[in-house]
Amino acid sequence: MFMLTSHVKIARIMIKHERKMMETQRKRLNCWEFKKCGREPGGAKAEQFGVCPATTDEKLNAVHGGKNAGRSCWVVAGTMCGGRVQGTFAQKYQNCDLCDFFRAVKEEEGPAYQLLIVLLNKIKAFEKYVQGTFIP
Ligand code: SF4
Repeated sequence: MFMLTSHVKIARIMIKHERKMMETQRKRLNCWEFKKCGREPGGAKAEQFGVCPATTDEKLNAVHGGKNAGRSCWVVAGTMCGGRVQGTFAQKYQNCDLCDFFRAVKEEEGPAYQLLIVLLNKIKAFEKYVQGTFIP
């Protein structure tokens, strides 16, 4: 009887864990999917207003499970949130700190959330790699 109860408990825990994992996977939207801005290549507003650099910037591809900088757009200069070009990282970061998408990614990633300094170092390393000056 005890064995059966503990097996049922373990099975329930595993199902719960799997559901949580699936929910996390489902929630991992890129910023253009979350914001529905239409500024991704082929998006509803891309032809008229231009493609946002966050959607094509490969330097941060796969960060937080996103496509290109889709889940790390706050470190990309010249993004187009709110329908206008946002300027340099320094100019826009204060706005991003208030952004609902930025906050959602932080919450979804939990301890796996990558700090600003880590993302900026990734960009630097990528640029050095492209220039051929990267030393691992
Ligand atoms: S950074 Fe803003 S404008 Fe650019 S794709 Fe993401 S939500 Fe759209």
